[in-house]
Amino acid sequence: MTADTGPLVTIERVHAARDVAEEVGLDLLVLTPGSDLRYLSGYSAHAMERLTALAVPRRGEPFLVVPRLEAPMVDASPAGGLGLEVLAWDETDDAFALLARAVTDRLGSAPARVAVGARTWAEHALGVQRALPGSALELATPVLDRLRMVKTQAEIEELALAGAAIDRVHARMGDLLRVGRTEAEVGADIAAAILAEGHVGVDFTIVGSGPNGASPHHELSGRVVEAGDLVVVDIGGELPSGYRSDCTRTYVVGGEPDAETAEWYGVLQEAQQAACAAVRPGTTAEEVDAVARRVITDAGWGEHFIHRTGHGIGLDTHEAPYIVAGNDLPLVPGMAFSVEPGIYLAGRCGARIEDIVVCTADGVRSVNCGPRELVRLPG
Ligand code: ZN
Ligand code: ZN
Repeated sequence: MTADTGPLVTIERVHAARDVAEEVGLDLLVLTPGSDLRYLSGYSAHAMERLTALAVPRRGEPFLVVPRLEAPMVDASPAGGLGLEVLAWDETDDAFALLARAVTDRLGSAPARVAVGARTWAEHALGVQRALPGSALELATPVLDRLRMVKTQAEIEELALAGAAIDRVHARMGDLLRVGRTEAEVGADIAAAILAEGHVGVDFTIVGSGPNGASPHHELSGRVVEAGDLVVVDIGGELPSGYRSDCTRTYVVGGEPDAETAEWYGVLQEAQQAACAAVRPGTTAEEVDAVARRVITDAGWGEHFIHRTGHGIGLDTHEAPYIVAGNDLPLVPGMAFSVEPGIYLAGRCGARIEDIVVCTADGVRSVNCGPRELVRLPG
């Protein structure tokens, strides 16, 4: 991160969540460990049975509820610099009652509409509801998506660092992806390379060789890579800041593609390029999907493109906005998402090309820069 992009997390972000909550008529947001909590407060905590939560009432200052034994970890995290009040609870305290009392004090009455994070554990969501009888529980997704979808410059730079790191892993594929190795062996080396290139976690390693490439979410198997195989390699990890990489390239190992494969791969490449080029403010998410789909369908391969064109990315690998038919959300500068059309021939092979792109004031920036053609590896 360069100095002029500013900090990743600020107290203004929590206050923005409060403003949006008020605007949509919510009395209280409760966010437990996970990307929502990390996004708003900078606190990256492990989910467990003990309650850790950021409470954002419609009025008054937001506060954190944390087990006392973990309070030093809050201080040590970026959350420690935000000036949030921390309510620490002891092992025999009722943490939900503590949260409910502090909220009711701030609001002057019990909240009616309470929203919890989409990935908050059920035991925590129901614990909050039990402590606030009469409240109706709903998802905080509309509030959090609205904020998280539009990245700040500091977040975009993190995604760019992640993109450059995963590009470096793809650039090493000639050493890793060889005829005679199993997908699992290749995947283990890729995982090590993901960490070596600056990630602190490996999110997924998909090595879909030959027929396995026709299964978009295939991970790894004992299948041995054969000469002439198409191999779909879709990989991603997490930077120390929590921001994610996700990039797919398709390789042909130890051989040349046949004429038909070269033909439909060319169609796929054209579709991916056209969809990326369509990204600009005002274009809708579903229009980007339609651009990719039209190229593939017009060439006669539409039935083999069996998933949406992309997904947002940030602190989660999959988040809003989803690039899919039916999503008429207009793009705005700062939205970051994948453009990843694929063609899958069941029982034979598949291919996918995936870049993470950012909508800019006048167009698009790709954070992945490796070659999009079918990459030939010696095998
Ligand atoms: Zn993806
Ligand atoms: Zn991917």
